Amino acid sequence: MTRRSEVTGALRVNSEIYPERPPGFVLHEHGADSVLHCDDVPLTKLAERYGTPLYVYSATTIHERLAAFEKAFRNVPHTICYSVKANSNVSILRLLARQGCGFDVVSGGELERLLAAGHRRARKIVFSGVGKSRDEMTAALKAGILLFNVESESELLALAECAARLRKVARVAVRVNPDVAADTHPYISTGLHKHKFGVPIGSARTLYAKASGMQYLKVAGVSVHIGSQITDVAPFAEAVARVADFVRELRVDGHKVDYVDTGGGLGIAYQKPGLEFAEYVASYARAVTNPLRGLNVHLLLEPGRSIVGPAGVLVTSVLYRKENDGKRFLVVDAAMNDLIRPALYNAYHEIVPVVQSKDLSAKRETVDVVGPVCESGDFFARDRELPRVEEGALLAILDAGAYGMVLASNYNTRPRPAEVLVTRKSVKVIRRREKIRELYSAEL
Ligand SMILES: *Cc1c(COP(=O)(O)O)cnc(C)c1O
Repeated sequence: MTRRSEVTGALRVNSEIYPERPPGFVLHEHGADSVLHCDDVPLTKLAERYGTPLYVYSATTIHERLAAFEKAFRNVPHTICYSVKANSNVSILRLLARQGCGFDVVSGGELERLLAAGHRRARKIVFSGVGKSRDEMTAALKAGILLFNVESESELLALAECAARLRKVARVAVRVNPDVAADTHPYISTGLHKHKFGVPIGSARTLYAKASGMQYLKVAGVSVHIGSQITDVAPFAEAVARVADFVRELRVDGHKVDYVDTGGGLGIAYQKPGLEFAEYVASYARAVTNPLRGLNVHLLLEPGRSIVGPAGVLVTSVLYRKENDGKRFLVVDAAMNDLIRPALYNAYHEIVPVVQSKDLSAKRETVDVVGPVCESGDFFARDRELPRVEEGALLAILDAGAYGMVLASNYNTRPRPAEVLVTRKSVKVIRRREKIRELYSAEL
C-alpha cells in the first residue's frame, strides 16, 4: 500500500513509515490499480455521487492534528484558538469546538458563523484584524469574547467608545509588530514594520498606558502574528523573545499581562518531505514556549493552515487533453475561482491521479494543469510531471483544506464546489453545490 506522509503532501510507497498514522488520504489497492481514499471512502465514489469539482475533508485528520497541538503544548497553560479564516465551514468549526478548541476571528462574519454553529464558549474567542468596525466590535462585546487584539491607537479609542456605550469591559492585547523577517511569500508575511499589521513594539508602550486609563478597557495581554506558511521555527522564537522582553517592561510599568497570543503561521510541507507532524509541532512548541519560561502567562495559539491544510483535497475531472506546439495541457473542471492559491501566490500543490496504475513502468508526461477560466493565471501546476491520465480521469489536488474554499469566488459565474466531510466510513455533505440561479438572483 502507498501511504501519504503526514506533512509532506507527497505519497510514499512504504506502508511502514507511519504505521499508527490516521487514515487521511491514502491509496488503497484495487485490482491492478490503487485508488485514493479519504479515510475509508474512495474518492471515485464521492466524485460519482456529488460531482466535481469537490472539496473532500478528513475529520480524522483534523482531529489528529488538533490533538498533536494539544499534546505539544500540554506542559504550559494554553488555549488553541483555531484561525477561522483558514476554513470556516460551520461543520468544521463544530467539529473543532466539540474537541474543546477556541477560535480566532478576523471579522464580524466569522464571529456570527461561530455563534450560528452553536458555539457558546465566547470566552474562547479572540478577535484579530487591522480594521474592525464599530459594529463588529459591538457584536463581539455583546458575545463576551475573551480578547481583542488591537492594532492601532484609533482602534483602541473606538473599542473604548463601544465598550463604554454597552457598559461592558473589553479585554485588550495590543498586536505588536516585532520587526522579524519570516521566509514566506510577501503577501502572507506580516511581521515587518513596512507591513500594515500591528504596532511597533517601541510605540506600543504608550498605547498600553492609554488603555489602562480607560474605564471600560482592561489590559490583558500582548499578541503577535508574523505571517503564514512559515516552516522554519526560528522566526517564531525570535518574535516571541521580543514579546517576552516587552511583557517584562509592561509589568514594570504596572500592567497586568495574563495572556500572550503568539498568533498562527506554522507552515505545512506542500512540496518537500517534512518531519512527522507530532515532531514538527513539538519543535514549534519549544520555539514558542522557551522564551516565555518563568513569565507565568496563559498562552494563546492561532493555528489555521497547519490544522486543516493537509486534511482537505480538491477533486477535479480532466475535461480535455490539449497540445499546443508540443506543450501539453490537462484542462480540468476546477479553476482559480475554486482554489486560487496557485494563481495568487504561485503556490505549489501536489496533484495525483485518483486512480493510479500500480505498474511502475506506466507512462509519465510533463503537463500544465489548467482550469477553464479566461485568465492565464488560471493554473494548478505548470510543467509538472504526472502519470499520463486520459479525459474523464479524476485528479486530486492535495493540501487544499486551508485557504481553499474560503477564498473561492464566483468568477466567470461559476458555482462554488460542494464540500463533504468524511469520518472513516461516513460521509456528510457540509456545503451543497451552489446553483447558477443563486449567483445572479440578487441582481434581478
Ligand atoms: C491568518 C492568521 C492566522 C492563521 O494563520 P495560519 O498561517 O493559517 O496558521 C492567525 N492569526 C492571525 C492574526 C491571522 O491573521
